[in-house]
Amino acid sequence: MAKTYRNFIAGEWVDSSTGRTFENRNPADTSDLIGRFPESGARDVAAAVRSARRGFELWRAVPAPARGDVLRRVGDLLVRHKEDLARSMTREMGKVPAETRGDVQEGIDTAYYAATQGRQLFGHVVPSELRSKWAMSYRRPIGVAGLITPFNFPLAIPTWKMFPALVCGNAVIIKPSEDVPHTVHRLVEILLEAGLPPEVIQLVHGGAEAGKALVDHPDVPLISFTGSTDTGSRIGETCGRMHKRLSLEMGGKNAMIVMDDADLDLALDGVLWGAFGTTGQRCTATSRLIVHRKVHDRFVRMVAEAAGSLRLGPGLDPSTDVGPLIHEASREKVERYVEIGQEEGAELVLGGRRPTGQRTKRGWFYRPTILAGVKPSMRIAQEEIFGPVLAVLRVGSFDEAVRVNNGVRYGLSSALYTRNVNLAFRAYQELDNGITYVNAPTIGAEAHLPFGGVKQTGNGHREGGWEVYEFYSETKVGYIDFSGSLQRAQIDNYAGSPT
Ligand code: NAD
Repeated sequence: MAKTYRNFIAGEWVDSSTGRTFENRNPADTSDLIGRFPESGARDVAAAVRSARRGFELWRAVPAPARGDVLRRVGDLLVRHKEDLARSMTREMGKVPAETRGDVQEGIDTAYYAATQGRQLFGHVVPSELRSKWAMSYRRPIGVAGLITPFNFPLAIPTWKMFPALVCGNAVIIKPSEDVPHTVHRLVEILLEAGLPPEVIQLVHGGAEAGKALVDHPDVPLISFTGSTDTGSRIGETCGRMHKRLSLEMGGKNAMIVMDDADLDLALDGVLWGAFGTTGQRCTATSRLIVHRKVHDRFVRMVAEAAGSLRLGPGLDPSTDVGPLIHEASREKVERYVEIGQEEGAELVLGGRRPTGQRTKRGWFYRPTILAGVKPSMRIAQEEIFGPVLAVLRVGSFDEAVRVNNGVRYGLSSALYTRNVNLAFRAYQELDNGITYVNAPTIGAEAHLPFGGVKQTGNGHREGGWEVYEFYSETKVGYIDFSGSLQRAQIDNYAGSPT
């Protein structure tokens, strides 16, 4: 019988106050029930906040290098459990083990990076304009961090948020995606095993109701959200009204540009991985392929032939290239967009339907799909589909490719394939995204660099790298005057001066 899981609040594993649960099923085989998880509400969130406030008082007093030591032990445990975490993540989320191993590795990299950051949360010491006076700053923790995560990186995205939040000295409440609650359950177990004081971490399962209660709670001054732009916008309204610090990482409509001088075999590997890896369910997935007209027909033929031979199936089957979508609603959304695309005049080159056969009959599978003849104004060229659908647009020049790339409301990642070094640097400068890859696909961020997007993909903050540590800490400035007399800034040095 499938296990019933619990929240982790005030140092204990507890049922939700609502008494309700939801099911977590394998998207490749919906007869496989992974477990039942609590459908939490505002009372559970309130209990989590009360505990996290106590946890914060304790944790903020622990020196940052010692907080970093806990994260180093977390990294060690993730290394030890990498394979079992990857396999259970494939069962829960659907992507193939090569990708779930990568997901765990990103958590490992983030843990070890966080551990070193505990020894380098730099402040500044700068000269004061007055004698016998020091002027300096340091970074202090903020309080209870409310973290809300999506389904597509069940482990990596929670770690991007939790680890820097913890090293900076905050207490954490995490509300993971209701589609992948088991992976974060395991992650919290690992944090506790590594020696994190129990009240510093709270795990509240559930969906929109629990997420909204966390955002609405007045004692959670900091919210970090990754998910869809619609949900992020609603959260942004609340946080604006309540003066909360907020980091948003949202949707994308990422493009790969292939110029006429590109190495087409290299670009082919890139587009297959970018568009159909994770079944297109990456925020950085290649959703648009912008191809120079001189190589357009040839390249589209190459992509269609290769994508047509990708094998769909359960990720745990070693012969599988592409797993399922996360749930039926997601598959229906993909189907709707494929219909809309054809109604708008795009040509279906590949896929456009559910697969048939034994391997896929019990899961939410959809065939890799290519639509060509797409115009920049079409909905399939503008809106995030979040599935294995590639829209192909033909252009006549690099300038036109830049205009098409930039002509959407999102701005997460972009890629350019060319052998022309000038175009490579122009792309880095002119493509309106948070991340540009040259001769590599739109996916592949590394944990020690800032990650995020412009326009409606984000709100100016970044995950990852050094920048995220700014988000989870507040600058405190100190002036220490040891002159023994009143010194007035802006005044004493200028007394008697004509200006
Ligand atoms: P989603 O917006 O449906 O859900 C994300 C999280 O928000 C879940 O935990 C959900 O329970 C919670 N939630 C839902 N309604 C809420 C509310 N009213 N208040 C508070 N929380 C609420 O997104 P998803 O389907 O899980 O993930 C896919 C989306 O995430 C895509 O749009 C993708 O582009 C985006 N994404 C972005 C990045 C990035 O870094 N930019 C990374 C991964 C995914």
